[in-house]
Amino acid sequence: MADGCLFCRIVRGEIPAKKVAEDEHCVAFRDINPQAPTHVLVVPREHVASLNEAKDPALVGRLALFAARIAREEGIADGGYRTVFNTNADAGQTVFHLHLHLLGGRQMGWPPG
Ligand code: AMP
Ligand code: ZN
Repeated sequence: MADGCLFCRIVRGEIPAKKVAEDEHCVAFRDINPQAPTHVLVVPREHVASLNEAKDPALVGRLALFAARIAREEGIADGGYRTVFNTNADAGQTVFHLHLHLLGGRQMGWPPG
């Protein structure tokens, strides 16, 4: 499963991506189809299909704090930003490797579509 997974392949460097930051646990790269001036995906190096399969609170917490760090580096922390996990069909999840969307640089609507 992880062998053919798109985001596992990006993590391993087999598919190019615009990486913005990485550490031993997380990799962050720009979304190929950005929905805001800043649209970064933060993923764990470890393959986890979605939030439904996540077991490790530290892994999920690291994604959130990694996104907050990137928001500061992108200059959107004070203005505000949105972080989103899409999970399964009703949320429109299309890539089944856990990822946290970091969106900012424009006013966000609420409720989300
Ligand atoms: P989701 O719909 O929550 O599963 O989000 C998947 C996201 O991955 C979408 O916003 C896509 O635009 C993005 N995406 C798909 N393929 C790539 C890729 N090769 N590099 C960067 N982002 C991608
Ligand atoms: Zn994967």
